Amino acid sequence: MMTTCSLDRIKEKIEAFSRFGDTGKGGVTRLSLTPEALAARSEFKRRMEAIDATVVSDDMANLYATIPGTEHLPAILSGSHLDSVRQGGNYDGVLGVIVAMEVVETIVKEGIPHRHPITVMVWTNEEGARFEPAMMSSGVVCGKFDKEEMLRSAAKDGTGITFGEALALSGFCGSVENRLSPLRHAAFVELHIEQGPVLEGDNHDIGVVEGVCGMINYEFTFTGQAGHAGTTPMRFRRDALYAAAKTIQYLHDEFDELDSRLVYTTGKISAHPNIHTVIPDEVKFTLDARHQNPEVIRQVLQIIRKIPREVERCQVSIQEAWSRKSVAFAPELAEYVEKSAQEHGYASMRLYSGPGHDAQYVADLMPTTMIFVPSANGHSHCELEFTPPEKCWQGANVLLSTLLKIDRLL
Ligand SMILES: [Zn+2]
Repeated sequence: MMTTCSLDRIKEKIEAFSRFGDTGKGGVTRLSLTPEALAARSEFKRRMEAIDATVVSDDMANLYATIPGTEHLPAILSGSHLDSVRQGGNYDGVLGVIVAMEVVETIVKEGIPHRHPITVMVWTNEEGARFEPAMMSSGVVCGKFDKEEMLRSAAKDGTGITFGEALALSGFCGSVENRLSPLRHAAFVELHIEQGPVLEGDNHDIGVVEGVCGMINYEFTFTGQAGHAGTTPMRFRRDALYAAAKTIQYLHDEFDELDSRLVYTTGKISAHPNIHTVIPDEVKFTLDARHQNPEVIRQVLQIIRKIPREVERCQVSIQEAWSRKSVAFAPELAEYVEKSAQEHGYASMRLYSGPGHDAQYVADLMPTTMIFVPSANGHSHCELEFTPPEKCWQGANVLLSTLLKIDRLL
């Protein structure tokens, strides 16, 4: 018989952590390093110490709670983040921490033998909702961001406090020697909610995450001529909003000819002067496009480059805001996840993550993968976020089996 985690304990943990930053409407506001987020961290530390884990933090306040193994080997890591967006849900990030805690608790209470130390991790400031950018601390630890620059990041709430100041006041700032490192850590597995509707829609219990989609983000600017809505005949107009609308339509028509897994979004648009009696003279919109295959992203760029400098007599300028290459996770770890799901009799499917996660930076340092569990109706980053307790429990069982396979085989 395979050992499984405790459904009751998982339910209790979800409830317990949902109290930190509770909005009273089914979700939490737990911005990084706020009193609510620090209280959640203290609770994590208290619970991990109660099962005899040793808890340390690094210089970005990432937390590491470790139980020893029977051999002197690098530790196997699992975890996620405890911070949320404003009016976020009770599952994004926190579930990955809860489930890793539950797995370690199960290993301790059932006396499951393991060679490697096992560490539950909490990443600091994954969301970037209070201090930009997102995935800040994994970015610093994995060499993507400059630490000094991150420390200067100012809070977006207008309080004037910087990330560095909040970090110093947090009580969780530790030593640089405790950072995640390929010398002392063997592998990282992050369980996370899918944040989309695919697993639930296809009746799958477990997502075997093969990597994180590459993405591009562009800003388009259309410059026309302002004029009176009542006096300017149509043939004289240089309407920047009309030019922008035509371009958005063109992009949709062209992108829909590409691979059906391509997703793209215009989520932000502004019109100047934004007055109902004035022809808009300047319109800006963003374009976010994501796909796992760099070739499809290249096709997207080709389509963008075909846009003429002038549309409907308006000037067009196109600027890349930022981009991210697609990240492939360790295939052998994905196999362990898939095999573990099979052994438990759960339906699994392979997929790529659209959102970014701390695991994508860790993947550069050591074998890394992720496990997704379904999001009810695909809701995420809102109070409606929900994953049924049984699905969380199935995810925990798959994580337990996966970590034990890594312990045996890696
Ligand atoms: Zn997350």
